[in-house]
Formats: sequence, structure tokens, C-alpha cells
Amino acid sequence: MNYPVSARRHDAIPNSKFKVYTQKQIGQISQLDVLPEQLKFDIQVVANILPFRVNQYVLDHLIDWDNAETDPIFILTFPQREMLAPIWFNRMADLVKSGANQESIQALAKKIRQRLNPHPAGQMELNVPKLDNRKLAGMQHKYRETVLFFPSQGQVCHSYCTFCFRWAQFVGDKSLRFSSAETDDLYAYLKQHKEVSDLLLTGGDPMVMKTHHLKKYLEFLTHPSVQHVQTVRIGSKALTYWPHRFVTDEDADDLLRLLEKLVKAGKHVAFMAHFNHWHELEPNMTRRAIKRIRNTGVEIRCQGPLLARINDDPAVWSRMWREQVRLGLIPYYMFVERDTGAHRYFEVSLVKALQIYQQAFQSVSGLARTVRGPSMSASPGKVQVQAVTEICGEKVFMLRFLQGRNENWTQQPFFARFDEKATWLNDLRPAFGEEQFFFEEEYMQILANSHAEKLLSN
Ligand SMILES: *Cc1c(COP(=O)(O)O)cnc(C)c1O
Ligand code: SF4
Repeated sequence: MNYPVSARRHDAIPNSKFKVYTQKQIGQISQLDVLPEQLKFDIQVVANILPFRVNQYVLDHLIDWDNAETDPIFILTFPQREMLAPIWFNRMADLVKSGANQESIQALAKKIRQRLNPHPAGQMELNVPKLDNRKLAGMQHKYRETVLFFPSQGQVCHSYCTFCFRWAQFVGDKSLRFSSAETDDLYAYLKQHKEVSDLLLTGGDPMVMKTHHLKKYLEFLTHPSVQHVQTVRIGSKALTYWPHRFVTDEDADDLLRLLEKLVKAGKHVAFMAHFNHWHELEPNMTRRAIKRIRNTGVEIRCQGPLLARINDDPAVWSRMWREQVRLGLIPYYMFVERDTGAHRYFEVSLVKALQIYQQAFQSVSGLARTVRGPSMSASPGKVQVQAVTEICGEKVFMLRFLQGRNENWTQQPFFARFDEKATWLNDLRPAFGEEQFFFEEEYMQILANSHAEKLLSN
């Protein structure tokens, strides 16, 4: 997986004009011309179903085209044949070959997407907060301290990741999208909820927004009535896909001033950067962006999922964490790939995920050991795989909640039967002959209540 850095053109003067290619423009990507015809056809077929969007900067500076088929950033951004089950791939391929019209292609695409668990972890229904009995679309409040907000102009990204668990939002089905333009609702909700210490702006990528839009969502936080919201987190992959946002974009300076204003008002502003590979930290433009962001007093924390074919190697993670610490960034989460979209292609067994985490963790200094993982963002909560061990002669996984839907679950250890093949929480069964995990009864009750509520409101 290691390519010589010189194979990438990191030091070339980056083109600072944003140019994007979507599914309809795949044929215009000149770098693809050197690839086998079959591979290009496969990309076309899969891009009918999974989101595709890539920009010129990623094409020119992040992908090593001499080794494209195994290049992590190529796999990160270009759909691959094996991302779909053969039956679905073949049906779409046949339809495309037959010269079918867009309507029938879209109809089949829709059907296939429904089979790919478009909304994992019950996020559409379970976590939507209410204001005076009105549901607030575009917000999630799952863990007591943290409200997630999905600003409506931030529901795209500078490029799309092939593994994204939010993929369903990007393929045009409006019913699968949540977003909100309602700053007033957000503000009113936060004012009422003094237990909320963190606001997390997420997407898509909120950093696709112009600064004047971002201002609407952030400036009111300096108001005394929301003093309890101490931390503002912004989830983004722009340091990888479009670092120019912070350096050469027209309103880059305004953006930095906005962030600085929040810091000066006493907020902890955390830029939650999404990285999957140390290659993403190499470009000069990214380094310049990191410096500029850090100069405002904003902290950059890093998170990303563990993915087969992209980063399922402890050496990739330890190098990435070391590099992050060297650049002044803070490693934060290593996630287990969620059970949605192309997850079969990317999935890593829990036991392997743990081994990768541990080996990488063991080879870095304490400053990089701020990273927690491997963690599953499942419906009951964020569950960390802590160890594989033997207790009373039974081989078990030791697990704990890093976050629980009920905060009392947090930090409680629990045990599952060892299962070499398990890749997600719902593959696991309780150890020691027990019927249920300790949280399951209460969790079922929460689900039942939510379901009853939904029936009543319909
Ligand atoms: C991960 C997550 C958070 C934040 O959890 P921290 O442990 O505070 O980083 C908040 N809400 C949701 C829905 C999450 O998945
Ligand atoms: S940048 Fe984040 S939200 Fe956007 S496609 Fe990638 S993982 Fe998904």
C-alpha cells in the first residue's frame, strides 16, 4: 500500500479553481483514459447507484494514477464493481448495455439502493428532537451533551467517499435526506436545553458552504443565552478534498475570522477532520490550511473509519497518527465501517479491527494515544471493542459503551461470545450463556415507545 511520495504531484502549484465531475461527466476525466475499458464501464455502472463526485484537485494531486487500481484515494472516490453484490451489478450492467433510458436506470437504481440499508442506526426516526411538539428536521439529539445540526447548504461534499454512511442523502432521493435551514429552531432548541454543551455541525460537509451562510449558523452562539454551549464542532473532509477553502478561496480569510471570533468569545472550536490515510496529509495546500486553521485557536481532531483496501494495515494508521501529532492535530476516533451502502466491500472483522488498532496504538507515543477505537456507531450507542480475552474458559469480546443512548450505559463493560466473522454489533451474542446484553431490554423499550409515538402522530 505504500507508494513513493514522489509519485504524487504534491508540490505542483495547485489549481485553485474548483472543478467537479459527477456521474454524467465521468467520460470527461482524462486520467481514466489510461485505465482498462472494463474498469471504466464498471465505474459507470456502479455510479448509477452509489454517489459519485470528484474534483480536479483530487484527481491531480491525491491519486497515484500509475497504480490507480490499488490506490487508496482512487478506491476512496471511485465506485468499484465489487461494491455491489454480483446480482445487482449484473442487472444494472445489462440495463446500461441495452441502451436503456434514464428513467429505467433510475428505477432500478432506486430499487437496489433500498436493499443497501440506506438509513443505518435508526437515525431518521429515533434521534429527531422536538420543539413544542414539532419535530425538528435536520437535527439529531442522541447523546445528552451533543446536538447534531445538518445545515441545508452543507449537504454535499467537495468529493464523495465511496464508503460514506450518509451516501443515501447524496443520490437525490429527498426522503432520505435530512437538513435544516432553520437557524431559529436551532437557537430556540439550544436555549431550552441547558444540558447541551456541544453543537456539532455536520453534513455532507459544512465547509462547502460560503462563509456568509456559515455565519448564520455560528454567530448566534456568542449570545449569552447559549453560553452553556461551550464547544462547537465542525465535521469536515475539506482538508483532504478542498484545502483551498481555508487558503485561497475568495472568502477563506472571512471564514478564519469567523472561527477566530468564536474562539475569542470563549468557545472551544473543534474542527473534526476526517482522514483515512496519511496520503491525505501530504499536500502542501493541506499543510497550509492546517496552519491557518490552528492559528485561529481552533483545535483539529481527527477521525475516520477502518476500511478494507484503503487502510486495513496498522502501519497506515500509526503513520497517520504520528503525522497528525507532528502537524499539531489530535487523533480522536477510529470507527468500524457502518452496515450500509458498499459496506461488504470495505468491512473488516471486529477481531481484525481490534488487532489493527492495538498494533498501531502500541507503536505510537502517548500523544497519539488520544484515539479511541475501534468504535461502532450503532443504534444503542457508540460501542468500543476493547479486547479479546478468555474468561472462565470462554473466549469473549470485551466491549464498552463510549456513548450510550442512555448515558448510564456509558463506560459499562459487557461481554460477547467470540466470533471471528462478526463485523458489527448485531452479529454479536452475549457471552456466558446469557440471553441478552445488559442494555437490550431498555433499548427495546425505547424503540417501542418511539414506534408507538409515531403511530399516534400519524
Ligand atoms: C459520535 C456522536 C456524537 C459525539 O460523541 P462524542 O463521544 O462526544 O465525540 C454525538 N452524536 C452522535 C449521534 C454521534 O454519533
Ligand atoms: S466527506 Fe464525509 S460526508 Fe462527505 S462523502 Fe465523505 S464521508 Fe461522506
